[in-house]
Order: sequence, then structure tokens, then C-alpha cells
Amino acid sequence: MKPAPFKYLAPRSLDEALAHLAEHGYDAKPLAGGQSLVPAMNFRLAAPAVLVDLNRVKELFYIRSGDDGGLRIGAMTRQARLERDALIAERAPLIKETMPYVAHPQIRNRGTYGGSLAHADPAAELPAVTIALGGRLRVQSQRGERWVPAEEFFVGLFTTVLEPDELLVEIALPPLPPRTGWAFTEVSRRHGDFALVGAAAVVTLDEAGKCADVRLVYTGVGEGPVVAREAMALLRGEEPTEEAIREAAHKAAQVDVSPIGDIHASADFRRHLADVLGRRALTQAVARARGQAS
Ligand SMILES: Cc1cc2nc3c(=O)[nH]c(=O)nc-3n(C[C@H](O)[C@H](O)[C@H](O)COP(=O)(O)OP(=O)(O)OC[C@H]3O[C@@H](n4cnc5c(N)ncnc54)[C@H](O)[C@@H]3O)c2cc1C
Repeated sequence: MKPAPFKYLAPRSLDEALAHLAEHGYDAKPLAGGQSLVPAMNFRLAAPAVLVDLNRVKELFYIRSGDDGGLRIGAMTRQARLERDALIAERAPLIKETMPYVAHPQIRNRGTYGGSLAHADPAAELPAVTIALGGRLRVQSQRGERWVPAEEFFVGLFTTVLEPDELLVEIALPPLPPRTGWAFTEVSRRHGDFALVGAAAVVTLDEAGKCADVRLVYTGVGEGPVVAREAMALLRGEEPTEEAIREAAHKAAQVDVSPIGDIHASADFRRHLADVLGRRALTQAVARARGQAS
């Protein structure tokens, strides 16, 4: 199918893009990599009257060091760049580990970090990983800018806190504390498909080897990324033994997640995957935090 007719605008600066969004409001949609928006338009699931193409807005393409030793990433950074960038590999290795699971190389060549977050697909990897890393998102409109913790950005199925005149412009990731390990794992029916379930874990140990901080975030088991709060509470302050991790993952699968069944997998199978993948992700993250795995 072909999309419904639309007006195409190609601003060359952020100010220009924000002015277009302010003028057209609900009628307009930003176009990033187009890997989700264009198929939706072709199927007429989306029919924006105005497309504001961000691909010429050079201010939104960057990966740089933050003043705190973390990372600042422009929303239009291509997913393929996240996969290959040396600074990402050094300071946010969880993102590098996750990228091969996101779609296929051709899609990652066009798809953007900001587009994946703004699209808020409940099965997408980057929203869960950004929450697990404690990311903050800078949102801008002609009215001003605001920072939103990644954990508060996603409010439901394909829905975020973004207003129609707002753009997600930057993702800020804090530095990883010493003795921190990370892991991402997922199960999908075929490589490159959206995952049935995915799990991202970040664990920081104190000097005694107990969990100073734990984050476990799932994809595919709710209306957005699911933070496994009950499981995290079980581990915080405790030694992450095999038994403790098993219990926490089990708690996550029983209490934190709320999967639904569809043609790809039943709700029960997704719950089972949440248990198994949560355990694997936490085990690997703890091993890395202890320096026992690369
Ligand atoms: C075959 C296929 C398989 C895929 N598999 C996966 C997968 O396994 N995992 C996964 O995570 N994704 C997958 N994707 C989706 C892919 O990662 C998309 O690139 C991503 O979801 C959207 O990014 P985009 O840059 O293409 O955004 P677009 O498609 O351009 O935009 C998506 C939405 O976000 C809005 N938007 C974009 N940028 C901004 C911004 N800066 N501020 C405000 N709003 C904005 C747009 O208006 C639109 O509503 C797949 C896509 C395809 C076609």
C-alpha cells in the first residue's frame, strides 16, 4: 500500500524543526530513521498530514563524553553507530552487547536511538536498556526543554510523555560505578525478529560483594519496558548467590511482569521466559561485576 498524502518538510536546524512542530501540532510527526513510521504510514496505521524529516538536522547526530564521565548521545544517532562506536563500547558496553539483537543490519543503518525510544514498542530493546543504565532524556520544544528519567518516559503501549510539539533530542547515560556488571539476553523466534521476551540487568556490588544497586528491566512482558521492582528489592543489600538470583528472577516472573498471549507465544510461556532470562541476565551481570567474565 501507499501512504495517505502528506506534506514533507526538511528542516536544516533544530530550531526550524521545533518551529514546524509548534505550527502543525497533532497533524505533524517527526521522521527519524523511518523504519517504524514509514511502514505504519504505508499500512495506513499512521496518516500524519505533515512529516518533519530530522535527517538534515546535524545537531542531533553525535556521541560524546558527558561532564560526569558518562555519555551524551544525540537522538538521531543511528543504531549501527551505537553498535560500532568505541566510546559506547567503553562506557555503555550493555548497549553494544544489545545492538545485534535489534532488527537487521540494514534497519540499524537507518534506525535511530531516539526513534526507537520515541516509538515505544513494548518489545524494543533500547527502552529497557536505557532504563537499566539509569538514562535521562532531554526533550525540547519551542516552549523550552525538560529532562525526563528514562524510567518515566514510557507511559503505555507505543506511548511516551512526549507532547506533539516536543522532540526527544538527547539521551544522557551516567558513568558505570566500579564493580558494575551488565547483561542483555532475549529469545526470539528468528534472529532479527522482535523478541518474545528480553531482559537487561545492571548490578553494582559493594566492597563486601553485596548488591549496592540492581536493575532488571524486561521487554515483551507488558505495555512498555517493565522494571522488575520486586525482584530488585529482593537482591538489594544481599549477596547475589545462585539461590538469591534464582529467587529474584522467579519473583520477577510471578509478580513484576504482566505478559499477554498472542499468535507468537502464550502468556505462560512468556512468564517462563521472564524467569529463565532474568536469571541468565542477573547471573552474567554479577559475574562481570565480580570480574569473573568479560
Ligand atoms: C523488519 C523490522 C524489524 C525490526 N526489529 C526490531 C527489533 O528487533 N527491535 C527493535 O527495537 N526495533 C526493531 N525494529 C524497529 C527499528 O528499530 C526502528 O528503527 C525503530 O523502532 C524506530 O526508529 P526510527 O529511527 O526508524 O524511527 P521512525 O520510524 O522514524 O519513527 C518512529 C516514531 O518515533 C517518532 N520519533 C522519531 N524520532 C523522534 C524524536 N527524536 N523525537 C520525537 N519523536 C520521534 C516518529 O514520529 C514516529 O512516531 C524493526 C523494524 C523493522 C522494519
